[in-house]
Amino acid sequence: MRRGLLRSVRQCSLQGSIVSRNRRCLTSIPSGFTDSSPHVKFPPCAVSVSSPNAIDASALKVTKTSKPMELVPKDKLVFGRTFADHMLEVDWDSKKGWRAPVIRPFGDLSVSPAASVLHYALECFEGMKAYKDASGCVRLFRPALNMARFNHSLARMYMPAVDGPTFLSLLRELLLLDEHWIPEGDGYSLYIRPTAISTTRYLGVGAPEEVKLYCITSPVGPYYATGFKPISLWADTHHVRAWEGGTGDAKVGANYAIAIMPQMLAAQHGCSQVLWMNRDTASGAYNLTEVGSMNLFVLIKDAVTGRPQLITAPLTRADVLPGVTRASILELAESMDGVDVKEACLSLQDVAKASAEGRLMEIFGAGTAAVVAPVNSIKYADESGTVKTVNVPSGGDAGPTAKKLWATITDIQYGRVDHPWSVKL
Ligand SMILES: *Cc1c(COP(=O)(O)O)cnc(C)c1O
Repeated sequence: MRRGLLRSVRQCSLQGSIVSRNRRCLTSIPSGFTDSSPHVKFPPCAVSVSSPNAIDASALKVTKTSKPMELVPKDKLVFGRTFADHMLEVDWDSKKGWRAPVIRPFGDLSVSPAASVLHYALECFEGMKAYKDASGCVRLFRPALNMARFNHSLARMYMPAVDGPTFLSLLRELLLLDEHWIPEGDGYSLYIRPTAISTTRYLGVGAPEEVKLYCITSPVGPYYATGFKPISLWADTHHVRAWEGGTGDAKVGANYAIAIMPQMLAAQHGCSQVLWMNRDTASGAYNLTEVGSMNLFVLIKDAVTGRPQLITAPLTRADVLPGVTRASILELAESMDGVDVKEACLSLQDVAKASAEGRLMEIFGAGTAAVVAPVNSIKYADESGTVKTVNVPSGGDAGPTAKKLWATITDIQYGRVDHPWSVKL
């Protein structure tokens, strides 16, 4: 069985651009492959799903498409609208466990209209990217952290766990088969969307008995084709994205469904994203949590020492998503000169005060899609309903700290510097 898997790897590689690929790329994902970050950590779950078996990567069946789709020209790529030829699919049920994994042509799913994903949002997902480096190798960025987070989200949906290295070796097969769908060049990548849905045919609100795990991919162009585009934020004092004890620390679809309408409100206020906050009822402080679907960083001069501090919301209340980009920024910034790094609550009031006192330096979002997204202004309604604006001094561009972090991370992702965070497939 192992040999079958290896054979299909070779076929995939041959179908891809083996000529341009450095032989050293042809490694496999070792079992036990891992990565750790102090900033992507999850508390153990008190209950968990027991599965009759684990996924068997060696049982993979590959059905190649007979109608390859036409590649979309690089300059015509729109995020999330184009999909590569193949997808990965693995079904699970509580009695028989995981079935043989399948790679098949990209296409619609057939699910029962009673499937509990459609009624009770039993769904979770991941977001990661494959990058092509200058020598044609395919690279992932800290994929083991995505696997750890995927398992946290799966556990929160009471779905069975997925062995990270097994999933990554199946993903590797998919990526090598669709290698020509990974656009080459700076800023280009193939967005990867692992997904799990409950296909259980049951209108009762209950534990998933049938789950479909699948993965689709989508070629994407550079987020910043013509330089950084700063975003403006609407600080929503009414709607809350996540709260202590909620699902803010899991990548579950339900978190995003409730974010769309507030996003439209932000647009009505002329802002491009929502600044999510969580009000501390005791102090009345609106603590900043995230921006749109990115983590948030604020660079502020300390009121006493005058030293720049890079601050992001802590994970302790589980109301922010433990981003891989967030973790990487924290780890990189810790070794940067001239900046202190802090995971701490920071309120809208704190930011307004820092701005008034000339201590506000930079604000940016952080996530896989953009790496960093500089913020140029925050609008909010004060107690009397008057709309106020906080302007960020770096204004129409990214500030020096955001720029430096962006350059460091993208250099690692595209293999321009050697770093253990970048995993060659
Ligand atoms: C995915 C996501 C992020 C960013 O996580 P990365 O791993 O850095 O891509 C941040 N916040 C939310 C709400 C997200 O869904």
